[in-house]
This record gives sequence, structure tokens and C-alpha cells, in this order.
Amino acid sequence: MKILFFGPNGSGKGTQGAIVKDKYGIPHIETGVIFRTNIGQGTDLGKEAKGYIDRGELVPDSITIPMILDRLKQDDCKDGWLLDGFPRNLTQAQELDKALKEAGITLDIVIDMKLDRQIAKDRIMGRRLCVNDNNHPNNIFIDAIKPDGDKCRVCGGDLKTRDDDQDADAIDQRHNIYYDTETGTTAGLLFYQDVSAKNDGVPRIVDLDGKNALPEVSAELMDKLDA
Ligand code: ADP
Repeated sequence: MKILFFGPNGSGKGTQGAIVKDKYGIPHIETGVIFRTNIGQGTDLGKEAKGYIDRGELVPDSITIPMILDRLKQDDCKDGWLLDGFPRNLTQAQELDKALKEAGITLDIVIDMKLDRQIAKDRIMGRRLCVNDNNHPNNIFIDAIKPDGDKCRVCGGDLKTRDDDQDADAIDQRHNIYYDTETGTTAGLLFYQDVSAKNDGVPRIVDLDGKNALPEVSAELMDKLDA
């Protein structure tokens, strides 16, 4: 199963993505996580990416596109994958489409998780990352997933914030890119909606309402994936 997951920054996409990954037993490829891992390890890629990420800008396509296309060629991707955080602009969407066509790979599903921009911003400012597992949801502004004191509500691990999550300008910048229908992430989504419309509904577009609580969103997603 090959799946793209679109949703604004702060929509809970990472959390739902982890569930989709388990359902199909496919790798969950998160562009942001790849960058942050490289930054943490002090690699050349990490050093190059850090400035862009801290400002809320996209890392240039010349770095990101080959990085992801190479990742999809690795062995664990041969039976499927879930891409989260890519494509993030129209060029990335077009280049991915081209690369998949050349490789004879069919994209099965595009998930479109919708969330109002202000709600997404509040969720980002409140989110806390568990040092043991970044898929343990913790958010100081959401009752259902409030941390346990200053510890992870799932495993009791220490929590940290991301630099780019506490900077309102960087968040606005990320959302400007996401909601941009001309060249930004939404333009990439519209591109795939068009591909689907012209190709008998392949890939299948799955709409998801991101404003409900996490378990409800998961339930809606599972229902729709099984439909
Ligand atoms: P969020 O969804 O909260 O913005 P991510 O972890 O997905 O967080 O991404 C963090 C940062 O990594 C982005 O703001 C951007 O700088 C960079 N990044 C992630 N995905 C891409 C991409 N496809 N192209 C370019 N830069 C990216």
C-alpha cells in the first residue's frame, strides 16, 4: 500500500500516521523526522537543513527531493510506504508523480486531513515531544492528551519542545506554505486530486476531519481506509 498523508502542521498527522503504518505494516517516512535526526547527529545534511527549519522555511527541493526518492528505493519500501511531510509543494508533488510513473509504481491513497489554521497553530504551540518515542502524543492544550505533570503520559519519559514549535513567526511561515494553493502544499494536494479525477479515482482521496479528538479521527480514518 502506497499512501500520501496531507494535513497542516499541527493537525495530528504524525499520530494518525503511526496508526496507518501499523495497520498496513509499512514504513512511516516523515521528512521532518529525517531532518531532525540528521540535525541531532550533526551530519552535513543536518547542518544544511537546520537554518531553513528554524525559520519555518522549506529545505530546498534540491536536497529534499533526492533524499526522499532515494529513501523510497530502500528495501523496506518494496511492499509499500506512508509518506508524511512530502510532497510539501507543487514541484515535489510533480517530481514524485514522475518518479513513481517511471518506476511503474501506483499510488493507492491520498489522505487529506483538514484543520482550521488557528486550531492548528494552537496545537503546535502546546505540543510536547517524548524523548523515548515521538509518536507518544502529548499536548498541554488538549485535555485528552495532557502530559502527566512534566512527563510523557504514555511512558513517563522526559518531554521536550521543538525550537520551531515555540516561534509564532516560524509557525505562520509553515502554515503560509501549507495553505498556499498556487505553489505550496495545498497546490500539491490539488495536483493529486486532479490525477485521481483523470484516472478513475486512482489514487483514492480520503478526506479526514482533523478537529475531533485523536481517537475519533483515528476511527474515521480506519473506517474510510476499510471502505
Ligand atoms: P510540521 O509538520 O510541524 O511543520 P515537520 O516535522 O513535518 O513539522 O517539518 C519540520 C520542518 O522540516 C519544516 O518546517 C521544513 O523546514 C522541513 N521539511 C519537512 N518536510 C519538508 C519537505 N517535504 N520539503 C522541504 N522541507 C521540509
